[in-house]
Amino acid sequence: MSKIHNFGAGPAKLPEEVYDILKNELTNFDGTGISLLETSHRSPTYFKLNKDVQDVVRRLLNVPDNYKVIFLSGGGQGQFAAVPLNLISRTGTADYVVTGTWSAKAAKEAKKYGKVNLVLPSTDRYVDIPDQSTWNLDPNASYVHICTNETIHGIEFDFIPDTKGVPLVADMSSNFMSKKVDVSKFGVIYGGAQKNIGTAGVALVIVREDLLNQALPICPSILDWTVNSKADSILNTPPMFAIHVMGRVLQWIERLGGLDTMAELANKKSSLIYDIIEQSNGFYYAPVAKNVRSKMNIPFRIGKADEALEKEFLKGAEALNLIQLKGHRDVGGIRASTYNAVTVEEVENLAKYMKEFYKKHA
Ligand code: PMP
Repeated sequence: MSKIHNFGAGPAKLPEEVYDILKNELTNFDGTGISLLETSHRSPTYFKLNKDVQDVVRRLLNVPDNYKVIFLSGGGQGQFAAVPLNLISRTGTADYVVTGTWSAKAAKEAKKYGKVNLVLPSTDRYVDIPDQSTWNLDPNASYVHICTNETIHGIEFDFIPDTKGVPLVADMSSNFMSKKVDVSKFGVIYGGAQKNIGTAGVALVIVREDLLNQALPICPSILDWTVNSKADSILNTPPMFAIHVMGRVLQWIERLGGLDTMAELANKKSSLIYDIIEQSNGFYYAPVAKNVRSKMNIPFRIGKADEALEKEFLKGAEALNLIQLKGHRDVGGIRASTYNAVTVEEVENLAKYMKEFYKKHA
């Protein structure tokens, strides 16, 4: 069988080089003679690993000293609860900028713990990010929440909002470490690891220190950023292997040249697909406004949402081992995810197939 090209939205492809490293160290971690899977989380081995992964996060994102780097269980959605539990107490209210399914889910979760102000008019058709001058921001909000990349709708922020001093909180689950980010512009950045930076089971949280010590009394300890940062992310048994995989992926990014290299590759890969869409005379159709088209998740339709032809496209793609291209059930159609680990060559294979399919059916 020829090589599989996985364009899944997450859990997503990991770099082949990382698999090779993990295979080699699976049963004998760092010369200890045992697997990390059976190593104590209170051992010097794990303490070192925990620090190494924090350090590589800090180096790649140039994290300022007044921010904590925390690893937590519960994935991205765990943080949908953790954000209000840790931050909403200051005023009891929070601003949510809903630009797709994931930020809508985050807002819904936050409503359990306080008042949520929806900054944008509600819609069920997410195709752009309204100009910031039209946003209904509440100056009394404890924080403003955004999702920097909507994985399902393929909408990615091309700017950092000005929240006039209110802490900005960002879900970066699907574009974490795909480009440089000025961390100092954010109060909190978080994301599940299983798309761009590792495997399911761990969320990476970067939080500014002055935002600690204000969790609601009902906040479970395992979601409490203050408690976990004091315990250096070893409050309970952490998802050690998932944290280790994250470390190996981030070290791989560093070896390739860091986040500028990832950004360059993401531009190149996403342009390959968007260019074909644009040059197809409407045969392929990308619904998202050009300035906010995601470089990580590219949703598109064929014709005027011709479901039969889309089915044929997906079937033909699978026959060529181009897999997991089906659009999310919320939006249908096709979605190509071009995360860090997906190579330019793999995207070129998809682009070639798209061109051939167009020639045959246009
Ligand atoms: N936020 C975004 C942007 C996501 O894409 C996802 C998962 N697809 C989540 C949050 C939820 O992550 P998890 O499944 O780790 O809870």
